[in-house]
Amino acid sequence: MSDGIRRIVALSVLLLGTGLLWVAGRSNNDEVNAKNDQDATLAANSERAASNDPRLKGAYRYEQGGWVYVHLEGDPASLGFQHGFLLAPEISDAFPAISTNMTHSTKRDWAFFRETARTMLWPKIDAEYQQELQGIVEGLNARTGSNLDIYDIVAMNAFEELPDYYVPWLNKREQAANPPNLKSPGNCSAFVATGSWTKDGKIVIAHNNWTNYMNGERWRIIFDIEPKNGYRMLMDGIPGVIASDDDFGINSDGLMVTETTITQFEGWDPNGKAEFVRARKALQYAGSIDEYTKIMLDGNNGGYANDWLIGDRKTNEVAQLELGLKAYKLWRTKDGVFAGSNWARDPKVLKQDTPQFDPNNLETSPNARRVRWEQLLNENKGKLDVELAEKMLGDHFDSFQKKEEANERTLCGHVDASPRGVAVWAWGQNYPGGAVQGKASDSAMAQQLRFVARMGHPCGESFQAKPFLAAHPDYAWQEPYLRDMPAGPWTEFHAGEIPVPQH
Ligand SMILES: [Zn+2]
Repeated sequence: MSDGIRRIVALSVLLLGTGLLWVAGRSNNDEVNAKNDQDATLAANSERAASNDPRLKGAYRYEQGGWVYVHLEGDPASLGFQHGFLLAPEISDAFPAISTNMTHSTKRDWAFFRETARTMLWPKIDAEYQQELQGIVEGLNARTGSNLDIYDIVAMNAFEELPDYYVPWLNKREQAANPPNLKSPGNCSAFVATGSWTKDGKIVIAHNNWTNYMNGERWRIIFDIEPKNGYRMLMDGIPGVIASDDDFGINSDGLMVTETTITQFEGWDPNGKAEFVRARKALQYAGSIDEYTKIMLDGNNGGYANDWLIGDRKTNEVAQLELGLKAYKLWRTKDGVFAGSNWARDPKVLKQDTPQFDPNNLETSPNARRVRWEQLLNENKGKLDVELAEKMLGDHFDSFQKKEEANERTLCGHVDASPRGVAVWAWGQNYPGGAVQGKASDSAMAQQLRFVARMGHPCGESFQAKPFLAAHPDYAWQEPYLRDMPAGPWTEFHAGEIPVPQH
């Protein structure tokens, strides 16, 4: 592997004897490096003291291709402590960006989200995930002296479900005057295929993550989690959050999982269980499509409602679980393809859970991408593999205008380039959001817990924050957090990998 692709440098090596290997790499983003180096220096003392903590045994991290890979292992409290400790610089950086987004869009203060986390979410979180979340707080504190507490971390973990699902439900219930225009997010383009659709007849799965660039630039963690109970998982994620959340993951019992959110979803059950808990639990404990479905349905709160795309490499079967709150539907096949780009299709889900969504308006981002997926997948029937999936995730054909133009309607989304924005998600004109990274895998790779991932727009284009902010002063409030989003190379990760430091 060339130095250009993998420029790993050993920053410091701690406790080699007990197996804690600490390496950090240089990404393309000098600002991030400067910040990380600074944090690393400031935290060096407490870090040295805390690095003797037995809970860190076996954990390590390294950087590659713009991603931070972390290996976590052990009981729930240790998984959390390792997460908080190893990703302390990234959590400290992501927390202000994520929490500012939550308070800005909802016009609710952070105390509101903490209180919601404490009273509504926390009591229904399984004990093992309570321990893991508490571990994150302790690891973070041990490394940096951070005063973020458990309710800060729980609220942050719910950043996809509280602002755009719970708050609009609450505003309606409280008949709030002039409530902010909150819409469930439109995250992602994805497909899962099997049988005669793929090159080798086995499963291919691919996903790009759509979100605002300010969060998306930070969605660059590869989690390799080897829990004491349940299956080993390899998934992408955002620092401080226990679920993949965008979501893309594979587990050691053969499940391959991703999703795209349901546009214009409405509904919330305050007595349900947080989505981030159910999603993490399902990846950790499900060994079949049925088990996955069962865990997602158990305590369904309607938060972050998704069309889940699932593959089981043991049976070569793929499925789509359209998980509404009032209705849901499961489709499955051993010879077919399911695509997602933020549209629901079951008549019951459409009627009961997304009453505002118009599946026939081909001008909107979800439907335009649905048309493009159908074209691309049909054209490539029998040829689908990971290499082709990488290209599709970076596709720039606008099916509505019938021309190449990176915008809000293309599988690789560039909403910052669109004067239309995406009204169905309440994204204004030139909203700084779109596809922020991509991942793909197949049955053979999943068997070895491997996938490929590319940070930044999957097409390889980089986003530049300064010229964007200069041209679009409406988004000046993001200035403290919005950074360049350089595209990295497609990079392969596998569970248990420890790179050899290069000099
Ligand atoms: Zn692109």
